[in-house]
Amino acid sequence: MAILLFFVAHWYLSLFVQTFYLHRYAAHRMFTMSPFWEKAFHLLTWLAQGSSYLNPAVYGMMHRAHHAYADTEQDPHSPKYDGNLFRMMWRTAGWYNGLLYGTKQPEERFTRDLPHWPRLERLGESWASRIAWGLLYTAFYAAFATAWWQWLFLPLQFIMGPLHGAIINWYAHRYGYVNHPTPDTSRNLMPVDLLMLGEGLHNNHHTHAARPNFGTQWWELDPTWPVIRLLHALGIIRLRKAAP
Ligand SMILES: [Zn+2]
Ligand SMILES: [Zn+2]
Repeated sequence: MAILLFFVAHWYLSLFVQTFYLHRYAAHRMFTMSPFWEKAFHLLTWLAQGSSYLNPAVYGMMHRAHHAYADTEQDPHSPKYDGNLFRMMWRTAGWYNGLLYGTKQPEERFTRDLPHWPRLERLGESWASRIAWGLLYTAFYAAFATAWWQWLFLPLQFIMGPLHGAIINWYAHRYGYVNHPTPDTSRNLMPVDLLMLGEGLHNNHHTHAARPNFGTQWWELDPTWPVIRLLHALGIIRLRKAAP
């Protein structure tokens, strides 16, 4: 039971920072926040993603390229060009590392207005941090696992951030329904997206990339949207005026 709770908590915390901070804030700038809150959510991203921390600026540049070149050869990840899920993850990792270490030059338009906190980025990307988080997860399993099969969840926790990315980049470009015909293969995985916190409403998002609510029909639920509205009401973030 403790392992299941730990896994579920890690799943949702990591997914929340990915969709709220990396995706909707860093990549798309759907809302603004003060430098204090930008750092606070960046810190939360490191704490939540832990061993699989993703650099927000690199995530942002790569994701902007995905929208600009969706399902073409210049797309960092596309089921149309990558034969299977693992090949797609491998190519995405190559893109990510290329941007991170400067061996791949991003287009100038993808580099504007991204959050930076060099000290935290260096820490989060370091092997010391990644291994320390991994050891912490392992210690939790050692203390609380009650059956051998529970250990099968541990490797998923090591790669939680990229795992969430891969689920959307692969499955939401292959399976599901289409509300808005687009030139790309994006689809909506499920109408009430409790599993992926709204990220699964991917066809809606590809159609309205600046829209902070990923649900476009009354029967669709993007669970991150009420959180965004609450943070806006509390004055922690400010939704852009053009947002519906
Ligand atoms: Zn996509
Ligand atoms: Zn996007």
